[in-house]
Amino acid sequence: MWMRMLAGAAALAMGLAVSLAAQQGAPAADPVRAKSDAIHAKVLTLDTHVDMRNGDYGVLTPGQKVDLVKMQQGGMKGVFLAVFVGQRPAFDAAAYKAAYDSAMRQFDALDALTQKTRPDLCAFAASPAEVERVAKTGKRVIMTGLENGYPVGEDLANVKAFYDRGARYISLTHSGHNQIGDSSSDRNPPRHGGLSPFGRQVVAEMNRLGMMVDVSHSAASTFWDVVKISKAPIIASHSGCKAVHDVDRNLDNDQLRAVAKSGGVVQIVALGSYLKADSPERAEAIRTLREELGMPAGGRGRMGGPPAQSMSPEQQAEAQKRRAAYMERMRAIDAKFPPATLKDFVDHLDHAVKVAGPDHVGIGTDFDGGGGILGFNDASEAPNVTAELVRRGYSERDIEKIWGGNLLRVWRAVDAFAAREGKAAR
Ligand SMILES: [Zn+2]
Repeated sequence: MWMRMLAGAAALAMGLAVSLAAQQGAPAADPVRAKSDAIHAKVLTLDTHVDMRNGDYGVLTPGQKVDLVKMQQGGMKGVFLAVFVGQRPAFDAAAYKAAYDSAMRQFDALDALTQKTRPDLCAFAASPAEVERVAKTGKRVIMTGLENGYPVGEDLANVKAFYDRGARYISLTHSGHNQIGDSSSDRNPPRHGGLSPFGRQVVAEMNRLGMMVDVSHSAASTFWDVVKISKAPIIASHSGCKAVHDVDRNLDNDQLRAVAKSGGVVQIVALGSYLKADSPERAEAIRTLREELGMPAGGRGRMGGPPAQSMSPEQQAEAQKRRAAYMERMRAIDAKFPPATLKDFVDHLDHAVKVAGPDHVGIGTDFDGGGGILGFNDASEAPNVTAELVRRGYSERDIEKIWGGNLLRVWRAVDAFAAREGKAAR
């Protein structure tokens, strides 16, 4: 029965991939598309950063950029569904506990998805070997990381608590300075001027356990502290290049080279405002829309309101409706004032490859956290990325590395460090 189900899932996946290639306006006569689709079907495609949602991942969900159906349609084999807790202003035991509990509820939801609701379509992987094993079954590979170290609080043991729930990276900060380090996006004066003393312990503990240290959202000061003290390769799970578009969230060329030198990988983000400046008209239209829907200004993809876990079913339905309305209105804005496109995204990727080398670049979309651009707006459009890479002359070997090979190499190195020196120490 088990084998038959697997065979069925694999056949379904193959059928969908074929029909999708036809649907996506890929005339069989287009030799680039034929070649890129063949490569896309072969390589292990991993996305290192998608925000976890509460919905049913097993059905096509409008208003959600990643679900298991879209992944299958787009030949996306694996995804890190990031557990995310927003930065709050308080740094006390009660605030930390609330953040920790919120994170744990999201880990519970992940377990429910992979073990109870959709074990036929996906499975959780906590190591590179498990990723490869699950991918071979035709099921989608679900992995996770923690976006924002705030829920760690000031208790180092919580790093292991999250590791034990399956988190394999922690983005040390989010949009505000926290107890671990300074953020790239906080307009307030620096809190620590880099990593805090506790933050240094967190990095050491992550090295010890075999968790990838994620510098996306970190201030440059925090980034350079991490580079100095991390004994294992580091990652940026979703970042762009400052030399292509100068915003605080992106990495400059020295940072790209430093990640490469650590043996790590920069996963290029597909979030429009990190890729390209909005025209004033587009910015104004988005501001107006967000005001009308009562959403926080500048929150990009985030919808505001209480965390989904603490909503009543009615509130959740209302939030879902609001999200659908937002997506529909955003489509109209996109049509009128074009945002960043697939080409802008691959320009960042190209630049990172030129500066850091093809062994140190990957893809982390930030879908369902604000990511999504014209031509690569959800997981089903992933084949367009491979087509653009082929058009720009990337070899199959480099495409394989960029889509997942590099990340798995880094993950293995981080694991190897932990096995060799980390877990034995202490
Ligand atoms: Zn983020």
